[in-house]
Amino acid sequence: MSGAGISAESGLKTFRDSDGLWNNHRVEDVATPEAWRSNPKLVLDFYNHRRSELDVAVPNLAHIALADLEARYEVTVITQNVDDLHERGGSSQVLHLHGKLTQVRGEFSVDEVIEIGTKPIQLGDVNALGEQLRPNIVWFGEEVPLIMTAAHKCAQADVLLVIGTSLNVYPAAGLMDEVSDSCQIYLVDPKAEEISTNRKIRVYKEKAGTAVPALVRKLMRLPFNELH
Ligand code: NAD
Repeated sequence: MSGAGISAESGLKTFRDSDGLWNNHRVEDVATPEAWRSNPKLVLDFYNHRRSELDVAVPNLAHIALADLEARYEVTVITQNVDDLHERGGSSQVLHLHGKLTQVRGEFSVDEVIEIGTKPIQLGDVNALGEQLRPNIVWFGEEVPLIMTAAHKCAQADVLLVIGTSLNVYPAAGLMDEVSDSCQIYLVDPKAEEISTNRKIRVYKEKAGTAVPALVRKLMRLPFNELH
């Protein structure tokens, strides 16, 4: 399970590390249905900027190391991130809980997703039904369609890696409670001490680009009987 912190070393800013502002904006102004209704141009511009940053970002050692795990394990990446750096790092199964920057949809058409890559979207850009295009992002206050799929994956997990998330955004943060008692939990975050949980977890208080490759090397060597 990953959050904005795993992409920080690829040059994409996290959210909580900037005094609760996301690239100098309050989330209420750019990432809510209310923001879309009151100022759609600001919302489109915000995501156009995020796409232009993504255009020049590359996966870092943490994204790439996670993909290496697939040589031994069945791996599902559950990410809160809207970038596509896990896919570009080589991971084959990625659940984007909060949607993807590279996709848009008509504002009333939930299922008709259009791939746009990192191109900008303007007011007046419409789908075949004439609906204004909006980012295919799950905004604060909207339902998270993939949460049950993610919870099911967590319930089946032998190992859960939690990387670069402040665990402040629900329902994603609640996924840690879905794993079984025998599941091994590893947490990678330089500010790990600010995260509270009553589960027994192994903490790597380091940046993802350093800790994740080391953790992956360890998991690739671990005997199977030590996974439970
Ligand atoms: P967050 O900003 O709330 O927390 C980021 C966490 O990453 C913090 O705990 C921080 O200590 C940690 N961190 C910072 N640098 C790190 C590094 N190099 N290695 C490991 N950890 C590091 O992020 P969140 O919990 O993912 O929640 C923010 C919300 O904002 C999400 O819903 C997400 O959709 C959105 N968001 C996405 C992106 C992205 O897609 N790249 C970027 C910013 C925000």
